[in-house]
Amino acid sequence: SNMTAFPTIKLQNGVEMPVIGLGTWQSTDDDVRKAVEVAVAEAKYPLIDTAEIYQNEEVIGNILHKMISEGKIKRDDVFLTTKLWTNNLNPARSLAAARECLKRLQVEKVDLLLCHMPAAFAENGVDQEKEVSVEEVWKGMEAIYDAGLARAIGVSNWSVEQVERVIKSAKVPIHNVQNELYLYWPQHELAEVCKKHGISVTSYGSLGSPGRVNFTLPTGQKLDWAAAPNALDDAKVKELAEKYNKSPAQVLLRYVIERGIAVIPKSVTPARIHENLKVFDFKLTEEEVKALDSATHRQRLFLQPFMEGHPEDPFKSERV
Ligand code: NAP
Repeated sequence: SNMTAFPTIKLQNGVEMPVIGLGTWQSTDDDVRKAVEVAVAEAKYPLIDTAEIYQNEEVIGNILHKMISEGKIKRDDVFLTTKLWTNNLNPARSLAAARECLKRLQVEKVDLLLCHMPAAFAENGVDQEKEVSVEEVWKGMEAIYDAGLARAIGVSNWSVEQVERVIKSAKVPIHNVQNELYLYWPQHELAEVCKKHGISVTSYGSLGSPGRVNFTLPTGQKLDWAAAPNALDDAKVKELAEKYNKSPAQVLLRYVIERGIAVIPKSVTPARIHENLKVFDFKLTEEEVKALDSATHRQRLFLQPFMEGHPEDPFKSERV
């Protein structure tokens, strides 16, 4: 089975989450259908990461269903993660929204359900619901867990402060935090806090998200992306890639995995889909991880400007 071929991280409730999976942001229809087929049936990826907002849950559900009915894979070969968008974070709507995710994905339950952001918005996705706190959002997630719709629940793009605030009142622990984490934004404080509380961490943008600049929100809004150096071109990364006869992408992924953090590199290119999974036949030394840890450039890529002005904007203090 795909699930046993790769290392896993044990969540607080005993569920095993693979340390590697396929990211699917900005991969629509034909691309994602092909990518998931290559990833799951050929390369044997044990995890697929999607979200309501990626608008590809239905395509992913269809191709997985097809592969399962053809006997190519079993449902439990693939750990499925999805995320509720901002307009479904209000606990008045989150349970129903989770049921819609399951319908689109054609599964009885997902393995991990995350709230995509901490800031709740009205149904139209535009107006901020400023009165909905992260504590309220989490109550909705707990109801989803209690209803058996997800084997584990977690958060994404929450600040350390928000994570710490919610675990104080949580009845179900936060099983996973999925945040931007890569060479130039290593998130040492977040990793430390999560470790202390037994929360698993997943890195998004592990490769520096080179495709991010093409993104448009469903509202038509284009996001402003500050210029950033390409982590794949980093001199230290290239040096290690040569040393181990690996690609810069593989070094960037291994750097995160060495820290006990899961990765979900996105690609719709078959050769890269295969390449990104081949990161378990080499190791970086402690010194090499430290050297990467101390890269001099620091930059958060994902500032999620649409949350500005919301009391639960996680990046308040970073906006100038
Ligand atoms: P990423 O995985 O860091 O980078 C993906 C980009 O790198 C794509 O443009 C891909 O191009 C390219 N690429 C992939 N493998 C490569 C390789 N071996 N060599 C060179 N280039 C390579 O960025 P991401 O997609 O932003 O993040 C990964 C996943 O995390 C997403 O897909 C999504 O599932 C999740 N995510 C979550 C959030 C959140 O808010 N929770 C935010 C962002 C992302 P091709 O596809 O053209 O090959």
